[in-house]
Amino acid sequence: MVAIPSPPTPAPSDADLRRISAQTAHELQAVCREHGWALHITAGEPMSGNGYVEFPPLRVDVAQQIIAGLRRLLTTRCEECQAIKRRRAQALREKDTPTARAMAVAMGRHLRAAH
Ligand SMILES: [Zn+2]
Repeated sequence: MVAIPSPPTPAPSDADLRRISAQTAHELQAVCREHGWALHITAGEPMSGNGYVEFPPLRVDVAQQIIAGLRRLLTTRCEECQAIKRRRAQALREKDTPTARAMAVAMGRHLRAAH
């Protein structure tokens, strides 16, 4: 089998990177605001072909609120997560290794897709 080389994609220009950075900073600021975190996030200067967004220095209490908010997201009960965990636990109790393994794979797939 011969690998067909894909055509080289042109590197984004600094103007493209600035536009993407500004857009991303805006979106990040908007989603933070929805969580009650009034952060002024700005576009950074492109460097080595990458775009950047910049956070302001965060007060410790604000950083702790962000940590708590992200932790809540991780532990929010999800029906699909619960169902997969239940099936895996049952398979482990019944020493059904293939099903337990399949549930672990299903969980990884679900976490990537949904969380
Ligand atoms: Zn889930």
